[in-house]
Amino acid sequence: MFILVKSRRVILSLLVIIALIFLATPLAWADNPKSIVLFIGDGMASNHRTITERVFGKKLYMNTLPITGIYSTDAANTIVTDSAASATAMATGQKVNTEYVSTDRRGKIAYETIAEAARRLGKSVGILTTTRLTHATPACFGAHARNRYYIKKIADQYLEQDFEVWMGGGRRDFIPKSKENRQEEDKNISSKRSDERDLLKEFSQKGYTIIRTKAELMALNIGEDTKVFAAFTQSHMPYELDRKEDLPSLAEMTAVALKILSQNPKGFFLMVEGGKIDHASHANAPATVVHQVLALDRAVKAGLDFLSRHPDTLILVGGDHETGGMSMGYGGFKGDKWGGYFMRPDQLLNVKHSQDWLAFKSYRMARRDPAKAVELIKETLGISDFTEEELKKLLDAAELTKREGKKARTPNMTYMPYWLGFTYLKILSDRARVGWTSYSHTGHPILITAAGPGSEKFSGFYHNTEIAKKMAALWGITLGSKPIVKKPRKK
Ligand SMILES: [Zn+2]
Repeated sequence: MFILVKSRRVILSLLVIIALIFLATPLAWADNPKSIVLFIGDGMASNHRTITERVFGKKLYMNTLPITGIYSTDAANTIVTDSAASATAMATGQKVNTEYVSTDRRGKIAYETIAEAARRLGKSVGILTTTRLTHATPACFGAHARNRYYIKKIADQYLEQDFEVWMGGGRRDFIPKSKENRQEEDKNISSKRSDERDLLKEFSQKGYTIIRTKAELMALNIGEDTKVFAAFTQSHMPYELDRKEDLPSLAEMTAVALKILSQNPKGFFLMVEGGKIDHASHANAPATVVHQVLALDRAVKAGLDFLSRHPDTLILVGGDHETGGMSMGYGGFKGDKWGGYFMRPDQLLNVKHSQDWLAFKSYRMARRDPAKAVELIKETLGISDFTEEELKKLLDAAELTKREGKKARTPNMTYMPYWLGFTYLKILSDRARVGWTSYSHTGHPILITAAGPGSEKFSGFYHNTEIAKKMAALWGITLGSKPIVKKPRKK
């Protein structure tokens, strides 16, 4: 009995000691994160985050982080920004005009990005996206250019940066113009370059493992010196609703990147972009939007898992601007009667493919057989109780498609050029009572959530430039700038 009491005391004291260690540990890391993971949902604001929760009926991980802030996104020249000016602000702390990639107006000064600053501090760097790697958001962290569409210039600079991890789409921007100069695996892709440089080969010569498939990514042997350049697709990666098993999810990419970057005892900076929330919002395609947000959320979960094992990591989840003016609730009338306040997010739950997939496929089908195209839409949206009126609208649109083909123009030609696709998206949004005010971006402020050391600095209402400044301040630095020296052209 006595022994039992004694051992109980020992156990109790041990428990107290362990509890004290646990309590003291976070204090030691209180303000300075060794590493930072910045998740950016392109086009994602609080509305996208909330509607996704309503559709799937569960809390998003990104909405459970303890600290919440909000920021405005206007560019130097407009209240409604683009992805380049907004990512420049978030990466460098500078307000620039739209389309500028981390440079001043004349393209003579390169504004230091938080990724470059991490490198300056001896930390590792990773850039992940579901768009082409040269797209505006990743570009603003890894390159400097007067215009976001200077693709070759942006791709070439990535090679010079010597960051540890690049993953995304857009292999076409890194392979030689002529087929005969390309490596075997890249022969079937058309290049967007105007020269014969094989950047994949050059990356490989600099010690990078070149990755083109999910299998290669999963088989990667990670060591201290691992550097990866992964461009999985010719252009953007597919929407989550259309993704096949041969391509990794953003969450899988994030988990591998974290493994590579955490080899560095000095820490790292990782930017993870859910890049196609924006594209789906431009198209006013509500089901695709929520699946893209969910895919980003799974990546956030990978970040939070990492945080639980590495408490010296700061996790941030924000966006670059709002796209679509997406609203929870729309209309308010049922026919000509006041319908009250309602929303039917369940209408989006059974959709099986993205708007790109369905609009194209139903277009092709409508050219031959309009009624069959309507059947395909019903089946793919997983909706069995369309009203007579809705079915008539769809059939009319399918018949117009048969008669006019591509001459039937929509008001949203860039993101939804198919009249039948445009029509079904409108019906789908109406049924779910999701409203849209724009085919473009809006000036709506952005929600940011944060966890880990330094996260409390991100509460409040501020400008997007503060994101970069706050991250830099947590590392005890300010972001600099330097003149851009023109290099002689490489033949
Ligand atoms: Zn954007």
